Amino acid sequence: MTLKDKIKVKTTIVEMDGDEMTRIMWKMVKEKLLFPYLDMDIDYYDLHVSNRDKTDDQVTLDAAHAIMKYGVGIKCATITPNADRVKEYNLKHMWKSPNATIRSTLDGTVFRKPIIVKNIKPFVSKWEKPIIVGRHAYGDVYSNTEMYVDEPGTAELTFTPSDGGEVQKEVIKEFAGPGIIQGMHNTDDSIRSFAKACFTYAYDQKVDLWFSTKDTISKTYDARFRDIFAGEYKNWESKFTDAGMEYFFTLIDDAVARVMRSEGGILWALKNYDGDVMSDMIASANGSFAMMTSVLVSPRGYFEYEAAHGTVQKHYYKHLNNEATSTNSIALIFAWTGGLRKRGELDGTEDVVGFANKLEEAALETVESGVMTGDLLVVAEKDPKNRKVGTEEFIDVIANNLKNKL
Ligand code: NAP
Ligand code: MG
Repeated sequence: MTLKDKIKVKTTIVEMDGDEMTRIMWKMVKEKLLFPYLDMDIDYYDLHVSNRDKTDDQVTLDAAHAIMKYGVGIKCATITPNADRVKEYNLKHMWKSPNATIRSTLDGTVFRKPIIVKNIKPFVSKWEKPIIVGRHAYGDVYSNTEMYVDEPGTAELTFTPSDGGEVQKEVIKEFAGPGIIQGMHNTDDSIRSFAKACFTYAYDQKVDLWFSTKDTISKTYDARFRDIFAGEYKNWESKFTDAGMEYFFTLIDDAVARVMRSEGGILWALKNYDGDVMSDMIASANGSFAMMTSVLVSPRGYFEYEAAHGTVQKHYYKHLNNEATSTNSIALIFAWTGGLRKRGELDGTEDVVGFANKLEEAALETVESGVMTGDLLVVAEKDPKNRKVGTEEFIDVIANNLKNKL
């Protein structure tokens, strides 16, 4: 294909490269599936852990600011340094998770959506359409204060206004013996921005939005979440009604029961702890962690797409040892297609949206034709035509299927 036949992506794409096995696949995906067909301007940030170290993590902040400039970013998986990684890569510092840095810069909510193929059935047989989980990633038990007390006494909750106003005090418990106490918080600003991101993403995906808390028990804390969501819904009600969509608030117990009986096709918004627990349930019920996409949606209209999985470290060490690998690139491919589709929608370029759709079809058809990586083979319906292929061959078959569609 010559340059003039290629599909032009109008606005610059922010690309964030990553680490280990996903870095290897990322390069293949670009070279075999994207560059042959797309004429793109890329603003490239190398988030390889050594480059983050070299730039004192400035490169991560620069990438986040580039997403704010252009609107859409696509990210490879990256190492979050721990003590082992500091040694392995001889790092100056145990840098923060790039995802946490980007999330706090863009003020976003993360949505996780399973990628569904016909020959891998979710363990819940009623689920036909994806269940997207939106998790509030701020506050509650994740930034709590807790105490063990080993004698009788009084535990109190105290709030002291900064302007010297009247102190508020409530007794938590008169302890007769040893026990435990926990204090946690959230802020109206954070809850409101979570609500905004959920309504924005549900509308973008044209799925109903469900939100659930334990507001019957937690009459102030969880009820505040419910009320802020109800307030935000006022800004969306007519749009939702016109699109035939619903916003539905219910008690979390009821939501769990309903989700199990639903056909899917919903965005389930959850508080921090509920989202942590439920997203892993949804992911594993869908078969493979490698079939889950993740998108960060900022209430200010920025989008960042990535795979939900990590850098697949174990496979990378095999690769370095010249052993054969069979690593699944589908979620990385869907990070690109998700970002390209959003770019096409924002730019009004239908051919870019069309290309993203065809690349997704090519990837899904590959798996549905029985060509699979090892993680999929073990969860797919048994079929004599199923065959396990290596990391690169998998991408080559997708490339061939894609070529036949264009
Ligand atoms: P991981 O990379 O998600 O891999 C965990 C295991 O899941 C793998 O060993 C593999 O199982 C399976 N797996 C995950 N993705 C796969 C794929 N595409 N194809 C086939 N199998 C896949 O998690 P981790 O090993 O705990 O973390 C490795 C590094 O990733 C860490 O440094 C962590 O900080 C980072 N991380 C980054 C992100 C991100 O950037 N968003 C997210 C999570 C973790 P088998 O070994 O059984 O084949
Ligand atoms: Mg979890």
